[in-house]
Amino acid sequence: MPHCVSKPRSAGNSLNGSSATGTIATGNQYVGRFAPSPTGPLHFGSLVAAVASYLQARAHDGRWLVRIEDIDPPREQAGASSLIVEALERYGFEWDGDVLFQSESHGAHEAALRRLLERNLAYPCGCSRKDLADAPRGPLGIIYPGTCRHGCESNETAIRLRVTDDPISFEDGLQGTITQRLESESGDFVIRRRDGLIAYQLAVVVDDELQGVTEIVRGIDIIDSTPRQICLQRLLSFSTPSYIHIPVVTHPDGDKLSKLTGAPAIPLDEVRPVLFAALLALRQGPPSALAEATLPEMWDWALKNWNLEPLRGLTAVRADEIPGIGLTVTPQLQ
Ligand code: GLU
Repeated sequence: MPHCVSKPRSAGNSLNGSSATGTIATGNQYVGRFAPSPTGPLHFGSLVAAVASYLQARAHDGRWLVRIEDIDPPREQAGASSLIVEALERYGFEWDGDVLFQSESHGAHEAALRRLLERNLAYPCGCSRKDLADAPRGPLGIIYPGTCRHGCESNETAIRLRVTDDPISFEDGLQGTITQRLESESGDFVIRRRDGLIAYQLAVVVDDELQGVTEIVRGIDIIDSTPRQICLQRLLSFSTPSYIHIPVVTHPDGDKLSKLTGAPAIPLDEVRPVLFAALLALRQGPPSALAEATLPEMWDWALKNWNLEPLRGLTAVRADEIPGIGLTVTPQLQ
């Protein structure tokens, strides 16, 4: 199977040559993005990821895009998309172009899926959860044993990508070299789910290509997905962006802040102390006087002083150790 070498991102868009989203980069400009799923309003952890990707893009005179990843309706929370966009506005983020709703690129996701199926790089899989109950498990979850690789009778199927055991490596901007052997670590993985929805791994790769994204700054909780995404980029002859995975913000017990762990929404009224706390979480060392500054002054300071180095090799930041935000991150689960 052709696992070719990644192309560095260059001008324009190689997916279909059109500019349907209006957010495609020209030239060799840096393009970053923030891509939240509308499973709930923004919490402090997602704010920290947004701040890091924004500052990194602006520090490179780049474009910064916002993409709402609304391709999983069962996990969506009504109203979350507009709350996310409103929060970004209130915190003073300025994005380029319109917000892209990932559901709008459904045609491109399906086209990529067809290309993979036509080249026999992907195949239908009728295995149910029950069928896979005894499959081996690894850190990435079930390691698919390849049951349907050579055919499948079922009408109700997921689509899996055929993978090999050739190592897939990338150099993370903060976390060093990351390598996975997909056949041993995940097995052939799902790119379209049994319920017909396009899986995150495929959708994210197609949209990053469509939008000409050159660098992805996101939480380290997604780092394990990156080799699968690079594998897809290679098979689809897409460019591979560079990657920077920043530490996640955790509760005192080490669980990542998320909707599931009861992380509350960031406030929309008193935003300055929360932005200041995000700069502390990102180890930017803001001077205490900055806490009294206006929002534009805070952003101005943050951009002039943006430095990724203090985050090198760091995987987690505990929310309760950041002064001033205890009130915004107390777990709410009983
Ligand atoms: N939509 C994903 C999330 O909210 C992030 C995807 C990404 O940054 O690649 O967890």
